[in-house]
Amino acid sequence: MNLNQLKDEMVQVIKSYHLKGWSPATSTNYSFKDEDGQIWVSRSGIDKSQMTTEDFMSVNTDGEASPEYTGVKPSAETVIHCVIYELFPDVRFILHSHGVFPVMLSSILTNELIVQGYEIQKGFEGVDTHEVKCIIPILQNNQEMSYFKQELAYKKTQLNHGCFIIKRHGTYAWGSSLAEAKRHLETLDYICQCEFLTNN
Ligand SMILES: [Zn+2]
Repeated sequence: MNLNQLKDEMVQVIKSYHLKGWSPATSTNYSFKDEDGQIWVSRSGIDKSQMTTEDFMSVNTDGEASPEYTGVKPSAETVIHCVIYELFPDVRFILHSHGVFPVMLSSILTNELIVQGYEIQKGFEGVDTHEVKCIIPILQNNQEMSYFKQELAYKKTQLNHGCFIIKRHGTYAWGSSLAEAKRHLETLDYICQCEFLTNN
């Protein structure tokens, strides 16, 4: 798939997620790696209902704008994307959501979400039955990107289901394909809804 097709597919997903209420007030960010391994990330401050293919910019592995995008600001959370790509070299797509249910659920949990007994947990990488226990890490929120760099590296082995939650902030999910990244994000959001509604 060429670069324009990748951007097009991402824009469609981003707009569909906006319609779910997952990206209010210009929040959330998205990225992908093109066929040459170049990282493309959404620009800062874009209203996701108006997102276009022009709203992606290329960055280096530290999250700094490529020379052709000098002066354009990448999303404030670009470093989180770069860290995920560094930790998991097979990942090509990263999606972020500010869905209400993960935000609400994370405010009543501490360091992890324990998932067991749901059919939909088979949407997570490596899970083929509702009977296993899946643990999804919950990180604290922080405006310092160095915190996420450290914390994600430290928790790498617990990131085996292709996603995590940031407390009172949202979710990140990834995959080697866009379909896989979507599956992880949507599985996590659905489980967060079920868990929150069961307990509240
Ligand atoms: Zn966010």
